Amino acid sequence: MSSNDAPSEGFSSLAIHEAAHTVACLVEEGTFRYVTLRPRSRLSEGHIYGMRRIGVVARGVISLAGPFAEAILLGDGDRGELPTLIKAGSSVDMDDVDALGLSEEDLTLVYDGAVRLVDEYWEDIVMVAELLEKRRTLTMGEVYQAMWAVRSDVA
Ligand SMILES: [Zn+2]
Repeated sequence: MSSNDAPSEGFSSLAIHEAAHTVACLVEEGTFRYVTLRPRSRLSEGHIYGMRRIGVVARGVISLAGPFAEAILLGDGDRGELPTLIKAGSSVDMDDVDALGLSEEDLTLVYDGAVRLVDEYWEDIVMVAELLEKRRTLTMGEVYQAMWAVRSDVA
């Protein structure tokens, strides 16, 4: 699946950012209550509420999936420049990853995991972003349904 066939209309960069966090959360077997595009504070525009997830590496992957998906949407999705793109994308998410205190080895796992996940689940992320843009808020169940819709389209 290519990351280059992204539609550039139908959703904002904030929607693709938050959609990527939610899809990553589900792929990493975490859970959340809902995701919204409504601002929580001046620092954080959208937000996922009630997220629970497994280990710190998974948590890092979920954090980086947002800015990486945003970078791809904005047309600079060259994987070789991932750390630069992520830093440009969202300092809040980078701060979250820094706060995990990961080893160099785990940080590499987080970067590679986020790249792979966003690439592999790009179609799901786009689908969720379109729905999120329309409804502004989605529960975890609604995100799951959007992901299943992608699966049944392919079948
Ligand atoms: Zn984010």
